[in-house]
Amino acid sequence: MKGTFQIATMFEIPVKIHWSFFLLPAWAVGSSVYNGMDWNAAGWFLAYILTLFFCVLLHEFGHILMARKFGVGTQDVILTPIGGMARLHRMPEKPRNELAVSVAGPLVNVVIAALLSPSLLYFPMSDLLALEDVNLIFDGPQYFIRILIIANLVLVGFNLIPAFPLDGGRMLRAGLSFKFGRRRGTRIAAIIGKILAVGLFGLGIYLSAPSFALIGVFVFVMASIEYKAIANEDVLKNTKVSEVANFDFTKVYDTTPMSEVLRHYSTGIATDFVVITAEHQPLGMLSQKEINLALRADDLEALAGKYFTPLPSYLWLSMNLADAESMIKRAKKSQLPILDGDEVVGCLSQESIKHYMIFKRRWVGFGKL
Ligand SMILES: [Zn+2]
Repeated sequence: MKGTFQIATMFEIPVKIHWSFFLLPAWAVGSSVYNGMDWNAAGWFLAYILTLFFCVLLHEFGHILMARKFGVGTQDVILTPIGGMARLHRMPEKPRNELAVSVAGPLVNVVIAALLSPSLLYFPMSDLLALEDVNLIFDGPQYFIRILIIANLVLVGFNLIPAFPLDGGRMLRAGLSFKFGRRRGTRIAAIIGKILAVGLFGLGIYLSAPSFALIGVFVFVMASIEYKAIANEDVLKNTKVSEVANFDFTKVYDTTPMSEVLRHYSTGIATDFVVITAEHQPLGMLSQKEINLALRADDLEALAGKYFTPLPSYLWLSMNLADAESMIKRAKKSQLPILDGDEVVGCLSQESIKHYMIFKRRWVGFGKL
């Protein structure tokens, strides 16, 4: 993600902050001085906020460590002024596992609040609630733990709102998936999220609280994105490579001169070529990069066998598009050849997968329930 930099590593996961995170101290100090607090109180207010963000970070690690239990890795955690975001490689698909991963985050905050709560015997919450001047709260460390308990509970409450991308939305989806399957479960959860979003937006206007209205818009957009991603995934998983494969791809032999490859390339017949032996054994691929190399070296008399790049992987006809797409991406190629037995029978490109998905969306309408 642009504009982020790493500040630490926890449990082998990079912890990054987005530059906008620095607006937070500025806002904290600015708003407290604006509200008539003195510099001392402003400093404490900032300390409260940073401690709260540490709790948010621990919350994210609740998700991360639970996902790790199910074999799902995490790219990084990014802290922004509106919260933390653990970027898991994927969400576990089994509803029970997704439920466990979603619950683990808020559970961390419940545990933090529970661990701090014995202090309430000595410093009762009623003292805090009886305060008349709000500014006094931040006058020093005397209310620190009590505020932290409240803040962690508010965090739990907020995250339990059953709307994407909040944890509550994922819990709802996981719950619905038990009964309706993942795709319909997501569809229903997205509709519920959208209704809540409209409600939040309306409430924001009614109370003239712009932050509510903004969260409403955000939740609404995220509900649609989440559903589209799942519907896409569903189509990819249920389509075989054989349905989308390109069977008239361009083959060249390892004994074909590069000048011949260039001729095909320059006329736009193909941009990628599968290099095979005389016995039709696949060797690798030639694409723009290799053709450029031969061109620059003025080595067009050389044979394709000299310039091809061996392939890390091949696709097969019966595999599904989701696996095929991730293999193509991992190989960092625009396409990969498809094997049937040990013979190359076709090619599949990222471009044709994209076309197929657009076709499905437009003509078959997989957005329908
Ligand atoms: Zn969470």
